Amino acid sequence: MMKHQNSPLTDSFDRHHNYLRISLTERCNLRCSYCMPVDGVQLSPAEHLMNANEIFSIAQTFVKFGVTKIRLTGGEPLVRKDFPEILELLSSLNVELSLTSNAVSIDRHFEQLKKAGVKTVNISLDTLKASRFHDITFRNYFDRVYQNVQKLIAEGFIVKINAVLMRGINEDEILDFVAFTKEQPVAFRFIEFMPFDGNQWKREKTISYQEIMEKVQSAYAADQIIRLKDAPNDTAKNYTIKGHKGTFAIISTVTNPFCDQCNRIRLTANGRLKNCLFSQKENDLLTALRNKQDIEPIIRMNLSKKFAIRSGMDGPESFENPDKHKQNRSMITIGG
Ligand code: SAM
Ligand code: SF4
Repeated sequence: MMKHQNSPLTDSFDRHHNYLRISLTERCNLRCSYCMPVDGVQLSPAEHLMNANEIFSIAQTFVKFGVTKIRLTGGEPLVRKDFPEILELLSSLNVELSLTSNAVSIDRHFEQLKKAGVKTVNISLDTLKASRFHDITFRNYFDRVYQNVQKLIAEGFIVKINAVLMRGINEDEILDFVAFTKEQPVAFRFIEFMPFDGNQWKREKTISYQEIMEKVQSAYAADQIIRLKDAPNDTAKNYTIKGHKGTFAIISTVTNPFCDQCNRIRLTANGRLKNCLFSQKENDLLTALRNKQDIEPIIRMNLSKKFAIRSGMDGPESFENPDKHKQNRSMITIGG
């Protein structure tokens, strides 16, 4: 830890941030209700978004300061026409590159992803039922996404599947998801539903870590449920069922935060730095870059203001207070 002490990426709690998540776009080909507000979002004008070279230049600076892992996200990163160019540029950096996608069109990019050294992809899939997929995403792409998950596995990618659990929507599929890991070598990750602008979050819609585990324990004997060792800085608590090819995990941002080990920072598609998913304050790196200013002091200042827990939302009850999160963006414009 000592060696990072003076890094612009080390915050006042001595957390070093070596993981940068870059949102490539605010656009998406799905309309997931938990992410995209029903009335849509005010999109930034194209000229306010980072172009491929600007993304590369900002990423390069972060790598110089100690970033070792970059995840591309969005919106849906694959709807960006210059995605291949961005990927190629970033692949020249000495980092672990990864991608979060809804998989609607990922089969068109397998070769580029492999060439860029992407080994792991995180795919959003909140249900294993086609009609429910439409209810959640407002699009009829279930078959395509499901087949693309199979193709990703066949192509040798490590596949993690993110499912946001919501009461009354898909919490009845917890055991189906776990059963899915019997034959499928995927890491299924249950994500607690989190509040963002326009997503109609209610605390009672969030399915907690405890509730998920109780459900799993109701179907599998205690000696069948194996707690796995989590990777350093992992936000998920990982498990497998004896004999299953895949694993499952719980990401409990609401009921059980993991902020003390946080190593993540986020760059929005319009070039703003966010030191936390829930931060209501952002710093504009893109304008500084365009004005040929040094972005290091801005990065340092941004990190120095990072709160200990969820941007100041210490207890789960603070989520009930809309003032604490209503000035944050909607998830689609943050980049999850
Ligand atoms: N379009 C890509 C996708 O869906 O995977 C990448 C962007 S999406 C915003 C990134 C992740 O954020 C997804 O795994 C999604 O499930 C998660 N997410 C979005 N809104 C959320 C919410 N309200 N609570 C928890 N997770 C959320
Ligand atoms: Fe699009 Fe991903 Fe948000 Fe769904 S979660 S609307 S796929 S950005």
